[in-house]
Amino acid sequence: MSTESYRFKVGTFECMAVSDGTHTYAPPTFPPPATFLFANAPKEHLEQTLREHNLQPEQWTEWISPYICLMVNTGKHQVLVDTGAGGLDPNTGKLLQNLQVGGIAPGDIDTVILTHGHPDHIGGNVVSEGKPAFPNARFVIWKEEWDFWISDLAELKVEEHLKELLLTTARKNLPPIQGQLDLVDHETEIVPGIRVVAAPGHTPGHMAVVIASDGEQLLCISDAVLHPIHVEQPEWYAAVDFAPQQVTITRRRLLNKAAAEKALVLAFHFPFPGLGHVIQKGEQLKWQPI
Ligand SMILES: [Zn+2]
Repeated sequence: MSTESYRFKVGTFECMAVSDGTHTYAPPTFPPPATFLFANAPKEHLEQTLREHNLQPEQWTEWISPYICLMVNTGKHQVLVDTGAGGLDPNTGKLLQNLQVGGIAPGDIDTVILTHGHPDHIGGNVVSEGKPAFPNARFVIWKEEWDFWISDLAELKVEEHLKELLLTTARKNLPPIQGQLDLVDHETEIVPGIRVVAAPGHTPGHMAVVIASDGEQLLCISDAVLHPIHVEQPEWYAAVDFAPQQVTITRRRLLNKAAAEKALVLAFHFPFPGLGHVIQKGEQLKWQPI
């Protein structure tokens, strides 16, 4: 399977999971993966769970995460969900090239939905000259999210160097799209068949996207869940989760919905193409990749 793009259908909608590349999360920039992803997990339970997932706790020193954007052609609209990380590192910023290979030019896209304002989701908003990368698109983002990232981030409790990275990326990638901006403050249909739903916690105005056509459904959960282990242990939050308690509530709601409705799920940071189902196994939910 190609790790650059993956085509599939949701009803009559033509969809494509598109890689923007991968990023390696490791010290010194980030804490070791287990601490970074499962900040509050009890040590023994965590180590046992990691082993069940073929991860050796002492040897898991870096988390190589895919960045997976979504392209949906509804027949009438060309919708992109998230723009990747741009030039965050040499292994990211491949979205435009991979779209091109898939026959999609930046000017074809009429709607860009930004699930939240983290660097790996907005970093491809602009091209190097500071111009919007998608000149004909309206950019949809939750109002509270926009307001948060154009503030000085005083409420954000992360290490100074991370805050600096977040601020720099927001200042580079948000003001240039101001003229194309469509802020939403309630759950609503963006184009026929594509709805945004509130999924706060990872960031203040994080949202999920529901794509529905002809009786089929895709639930794009973005960063409500960062790692397949979060599906089993929704109360284990990540060091970058803004409001941990809210993350747990949001996760349970989205994952239970996905399981009950047997929806196909797309998770931005999961192994490519990030698609699978959430299934009930005994008391627990589990991730079943396609
Ligand atoms: Zn992310």
